[in-house]
Amino acid sequence: GVLGMNLRSYIRDIADFPTPGILFRDITPLLSDASALKYAVDRMLELCEPLSSDVIVSVEARGFLLAAPLAYRMGKPLVPVRKQGKLPYKTHRVSYQLEYGTDTLEIHRDGIGEGQRALIVDDLLATGGTVGATAELIRECGAQVAGYAFLIELAELNGRQSLCGEEVVSLITYD
Ligand code: 5GP
Repeated sequence: GVLGMNLRSYIRDIADFPTPGILFRDITPLLSDASALKYAVDRMLELCEPLSSDVIVSVEARGFLLAAPLAYRMGKPLVPVRKQGKLPYKTHRVSYQLEYGTDTLEIHRDGIGEGQRALIVDDLLATGGTVGATAELIRECGAQVAGYAFLIELAELNGRQSLCGEEVVSLITYD
């Protein structure tokens, strides 16, 4: 709309990062512009509200930057998912496939209550491996996935199709 903002212009493309052949979508220009950051969080809030969640779950590290202001605005608790070895209390753990090798994510066992509905927030959806593993951790806790919310979606990697069932929302899509 006329009051809209072209958020895409705040995403910087970096060729060959972190490895040759990868085009990295850098969100730091958006974070460092106060109006763009506020606009992005406000729009994500609008997309997330209909998903009726009890708790926000987010993945380190860039996901936290969006999940914290969203949780604050929604008045909902925030539960971090981290790489193996970072969380101090008892955890559930899941390993998932990367392009080369595997990675392991953890969540605190008491982070989410049984039967709660968790909204998963991350900065970017690529293959869906990261948030798919996060969804497994939520189910390990006896909770449900209410949906997934991203700032950016890379549509050609079909991450959305890998997340069967629950709602997926994103602000910026690259085809
Ligand atoms: P996926 O698991 O969906 O393949 O990859 C998504 C995860 O990798 C997210 O946690 C995201 O932070 C990170 N990621 C992958 N590619 C990019 C990128 O181009 N830009 C940013 N900001 N994050 C990326």
